[in-house]
Amino acid sequence: MRRPLISGNWKMNLDRTGILNLCGAIKETVSSVTDVEVGVFPPFPYLSLVKETLENSGVFIGGQDLYFETQGAFTGQVSGPMLKDAGATHVLVGHSERRHLFGDTNEITLKKMQAALDAGLKPVLCVGEKLPEREADRTAEVVIRQIEEGTRDLSEESLKDLVVAYEPVWAIGTGMTATPEQAGVAHRIIRDWFGNSFSHGFAEKLRILYGGSVTPDNVDALMAVDGVDGALVGGASLKPELFEGIIRFNH
Ligand code: PEP
Repeated sequence: MRRPLISGNWKMNLDRTGILNLCGAIKETVSSVTDVEVGVFPPFPYLSLVKETLENSGVFIGGQDLYFETQGAFTGQVSGPMLKDAGATHVLVGHSERRHLFGDTNEITLKKMQAALDAGLKPVLCVGEKLPEREADRTAEVVIRQIEEGTRDLSEESLKDLVVAYEPVWAIGTGMTATPEQAGVAHRIIRDWFGNSFSHGFAEKLRILYGGSVTPDNVDALMAVDGVDGALVGGASLKPELFEGIIRFNH
């Protein structure tokens, strides 16, 4: 059985006051929800604050990105060991905004995957097609290439805690959500690839999240899809009542 995972990517949003307010609400919510794992990805400067505030709540924290070197003259970058030291257990790798706004190629994504594993962080590898790619019926090709090139030569053992987030780029922050059917097809393609390239057991244990304009209104239908194991939530994770509604899916 794969435990559902609901995670919030705060992106470059919130301030200290907003974070304390949101963390208080998350703590309250998770105190009465036991069958769902919850995690948040705050902006770097607030990692330690969130770590302290969510202490003993069971909510994990993660970095939104990392650099592939461990230390040195890389102004503005943050390394895996630094994230770990600040209390992160997870890290997003290859988020579409990193790929499309900051030039993260599949090659860079692979280096970041390796750096995350070397630092003992659990990577959440984000993949997804752009709208023209979907319209040209290239979703499978694009997503498989992102996974293949983003995990090349990494061992099954090293990836045992891997989480994959399928996030169609056209659905991120747009209010357009993949239909449950579209999500189901993409998740099946991803799981099958891992089944063929790693092992059946690995694919069966792998959690694949859906991301792209998830709200309390559409989460039930998405979570009902076979192979959708959770959600990576952007905009709706910033509002306590919306994030709570998503964590409490099916209730
Ligand atoms: C995201 O940034 O990973 C995301 C899914 O954003 P949103 O929920 O706002 O579409």
